[in-house]
Amino acid sequence: IRIFVPRDSAALALGADQVAAALDVQARQRGLDIELVRNGSRGMFWLEPLVEVQTPAGRVAYGPVAPGDVQDLLDAQFQTGAAHRLCLGLTQALTYLRQQERLTFARMGVTDPLSLADYQAHEGFAGLRRALALSPSEIVQQVLDSGLRGRGGAAFPAGIKWKTVAAASSAQKYIVCNADEGDSGTYSDRMAMEGDPFMLIEGMTIAAVATGATQGYIYIRSEYPHAIATMREAIAKASAAGFSGSNILKSGKTFHLEVRKAAGAYVCGEETAMLESIEGKRGVVRAKPPIPALKGLFGQPSVINNVITFASVPIILARGAAYYTDYGVGRSSGTLPFQLTGNIKHGGLIEKAFGITLRQLLFDFGGGSASGRPIKAVQVGGPLGAYVPERYWDVPMDYEAYAAVGVTVGHGGIVVHDDTADLSRLARYAMEFCAIESCGKCTPCRIGSTRGVEVLDRIAAGNNNAKQVELLRDLCDTMLHGSLCALGSMTPNPVLSALNHYPQDFGLAVPVAE
Ligand code: SF4
Repeated sequence: IRIFVPRDSAALALGADQVAAALDVQARQRGLDIELVRNGSRGMFWLEPLVEVQTPAGRVAYGPVAPGDVQDLLDAQFQTGAAHRLCLGLTQALTYLRQQERLTFARMGVTDPLSLADYQAHEGFAGLRRALALSPSEIVQQVLDSGLRGRGGAAFPAGIKWKTVAAASSAQKYIVCNADEGDSGTYSDRMAMEGDPFMLIEGMTIAAVATGATQGYIYIRSEYPHAIATMREAIAKASAAGFSGSNILKSGKTFHLEVRKAAGAYVCGEETAMLESIEGKRGVVRAKPPIPALKGLFGQPSVINNVITFASVPIILARGAAYYTDYGVGRSSGTLPFQLTGNIKHGGLIEKAFGITLRQLLFDFGGGSASGRPIKAVQVGGPLGAYVPERYWDVPMDYEAYAAVGVTVGHGGIVVHDDTADLSRLARYAMEFCAIESCGKCTPCRIGSTRGVEVLDRIAAGNNNAKQVELLRDLCDTMLHGSLCALGSMTPNPVLSALNHYPQDFGLAVPVAE
């Protein structure tokens, strides 16, 4: 009998290890021959720890399970046959999962993350095998044709980066994965690394084969100890089996992969600061040009993509670019794992094609606010993303449609606030975040953020607000146009969206022109 208990950090934080231990003890006491599989999370966090029992009809889900529930649960499942109060029915029939389009996260929660056999039984390494049968330029063309854009937030076409690195002439090239997932309310990278690590290894190895790189680094934030441990174990297994490392499935090519533990700075999620950090220096942003595709890690041509970008590649190679472009709208092809958090009833990961609306995510999936109060503001795209008011909740979520209303989709993080939120305090938080996390290289960000906090404090004190708001707008304009990197230039997004859409929270009686 196979019983699944997630090993994902979110499930562990909610007691998954204790539930697994209780299952082990109780099963032995009953003489049940169980195989306890520690799978990835299905991404329905309000149900964690989610226990699944394999049956001839499919997996039956129970959640959220506490250690004290295990005895009753086993009685119901294996003795009485009566429906247990935590029984949710067949996992595959759960509406939250059924309504998704899981391409990248298709194996999430289904397989044992560290089983190569399980991975291959679920289409794993099919993309790499196909890549090895193609020429490097044909691989790059597949990625170009798929329209895959960087999922870390910048949305730059991945194929163009790959093509640039492939064409660069150098004895040493690198593949670098940015897994410094620092945006508030985001966790898709972590889930992918903890729940399906071979997928990332496969995507990076395909990039190496396509560009001629022989060395790769995965830069994982230090706050993700489980992801770091899982990736290290997965790399060792994949290399030993010939899917990475030396002699990639006897092609004669090599690709060595290492995990680098990040240093804990938000700015190291900026690609050039990350490169500095991997090189052992302080994480300070580099001026561009030169672009990292030509002069990146240790001054060599480097492909830098985030976890979900690389993780999207295997299915593109395995099923072809046309399969991928069937999902999404316009220039936003494929799917995005949206991450629903904050004041929301059913928070979790929802992989859907671009084009879904925020309203569908908030209500069809999220079930409204956790507090039961009206939702007032939704921050999309991390701490530097805009606050989105209700009038934009029906705009299709794709890069272009969102940009047209001044919002970035970013890494797909969605943080919900109900009507008790004070947007002037949230705007202050954004400025303070920038002041704390600034690398200090350029003045608009280093000094501007500190002055921004002071201006917002004066506004909160009701000190000549119209004048202070004018000053705040001027400051945001300077940060937007004068900052060297996105930390400084995007901090105005939450500040100005709060000011424009919720002027009453800034003591302004009349709506401010947008
Ligand atoms: Fe550093 Fe901020 Fe300038 Fe970026 S905008 S380079 S984080 S000081």
